[in-house]
Amino acid sequence: MPVTGPDPGPPRRRWHAELAWLPGSGVQRDVLIEATGERFAAVRAGVPPSPAPGTVRLPGLTLPGLANAHSHAFHRALRGITQAGPGTFWTWREAMYQVAERLEPDSYLALARAAYAEMSLAGVTCVGEFHYLHHGPGGVPYADPNAMGRAMVQAAAEAGLRITLLDTCYLAGGLSPGGQSEPLAGPQLRFGDGDARHWADRVEALAPDAHGMLGLHARAGAAIHSVRAVPAGQIGPVIAWAHRHSAPLHAHLSEQQAENEACQEAYGASPAEVLSRAGALGPASTMVHATHLTASDVELLGGSRTCACFCPTTEADLADGIGPARALASAGSPLSVGSDSHAVVDLFAEARGIELTQRLATGQRGQFSADDLARAATVAGHACLGWAGAGEIVPGALADLVTVALDTPRLAGATEATALESVVFAATAADVRSVVVGGRDVVRDGRHLLVDDVPAALSAAIAGVLG
Ligand SMILES: [Zn+2]
Repeated sequence: MPVTGPDPGPPRRRWHAELAWLPGSGVQRDVLIEATGERFAAVRAGVPPSPAPGTVRLPGLTLPGLANAHSHAFHRALRGITQAGPGTFWTWREAMYQVAERLEPDSYLALARAAYAEMSLAGVTCVGEFHYLHHGPGGVPYADPNAMGRAMVQAAAEAGLRITLLDTCYLAGGLSPGGQSEPLAGPQLRFGDGDARHWADRVEALAPDAHGMLGLHARAGAAIHSVRAVPAGQIGPVIAWAHRHSAPLHAHLSEQQAENEACQEAYGASPAEVLSRAGALGPASTMVHATHLTASDVELLGGSRTCACFCPTTEADLADGIGPARALASAGSPLSVGSDSHAVVDLFAEARGIELTQRLATGQRGQFSADDLARAATVAGHACLGWAGAGEIVPGALADLVTVALDTPRLAGATEATALESVVFAATAADVRSVVVGGRDVVRDGRHLLVDDVPAALSAAIAGVLG
C-alpha cells in the first residue's frame, strides 16, 4: 500500500526585493513578497534580508508583470525589412501581407513562441494578441477553423506568459470613396469569415468557459479590426459575442487620416462616432492607436471610460502620427501600451514613448509621471486584456514579478528616490533580469527557462517563414 503524506497544498514561494514599486506607496526598500500558488499572499516593506532558506533575493527594482496590450505576433518577422527605404503605413502593409501569405499553423506556432519568448525576456507576463490570420490560403478554413488561434494559445503557454486571444473580425478590404465596402482580396482572404455571424460561430468553437477562459493561462477576447475592415452593420454581432462572454473588446481606431476620410465619406461620421453608435465603447473596450481624433472623439472615449492603447514605437516607425494621450487620460480613458508590429519589443520604450511624443507635440514636459506610465504598462494593460487582479504587487493579485537590474550601464547611479523614473525613462528590455509568472520562474538571470535559446528560435522561425 503506497504511503502518502498530507496534501502539501499549492506551492509557497518567497522573494526579497531590494526595491519594489508598490501601489499607493511608490518605491519601497526591502520588500518581502510571498505567494501561495499563482497569487500573492503577503507583501511587506522594510523587512531586512534574512538568510532564511527558500527566499529568493531580487537585487534591483521589482515591478509587477508588464502587459503588452497589442501584439501581432507574425509581424516580428518583418523587423529590419520594413525599415529599409521610404514608404508609409500602406507600403508597410504590403510587406506584412507577404509574410501573412506564407504562414501555416506549425510555422506560426514556432514564430509566435519565439516572439513571445522575446517578450518574456523583456518582462512581459501577459500579451493581447490581436489575431486576424485565421484561415488557409485563399481563405479556405483549416480542418480546425481555429487552428491558427489555438497555435497562439499554445505558443504563449510554451513561452510562459498569459494571453488574451483577441480574435479579430475582418470582413472587408477597405471603404471605397462611395462608401461601399471593398471585398477582401489576395492575402486578406485568409482574414475573413464572410460575415460577423460566421465569425461568432467560429470563435464560439474555441469553447471559452463561463469566465471566458480558454485555459489557465488564456482568455478569450474579441476585436473589430477597424471601421475599414468591418462594415458598420456587422459590428453588432461582435459586440454581442464579447458581452456574452464578458470578454474584452478591442479595435484599431483612426491610425491613419485616410481611414478617417474614408469613414466620413461612407458614414458621415468619424470612426469613433461609428463605433460609439454601434455600442462598441465602454470600460471593457480598448481603442488601439487613437491617433487622429477630434475633440468630440476624445470625449466619446473618455466619457465612456474606453481604454486607449498606444504603441509609440510602431506609430513612429509607420509614420502614423501622435495621438492625444494627455487629452484622453484627462477625459477619463485609462491608457495601456503595446508593441504592435514589434519594430522593437520593449515596454519601457512604449511607456516613455507616450510622454515623449506628447512633449514633442506640445512643447511641454511632465504631462505624465513615471508612476502614470508604469501603471499603463502594468495594471491598466492587464485590465484592458480582461485580467483584473493582475499587474500590482498586492495580496490576492496574480504573482507576477519583473526585476530590473540597476547596475547596468543605463541604470547605474539610480537611487531609491528616483528608481522608477530611471527605469521608465532609461531602462531597456535588456535590463530585465528575472520574470515570475503566476509564482513560477520564467526568466532567471536574464535567461529564459522554457525556451532554450531565444535568438536561435527567432532566427529559425523567421528564416522558415521568409524562406
Ligand atoms: Zn495593430
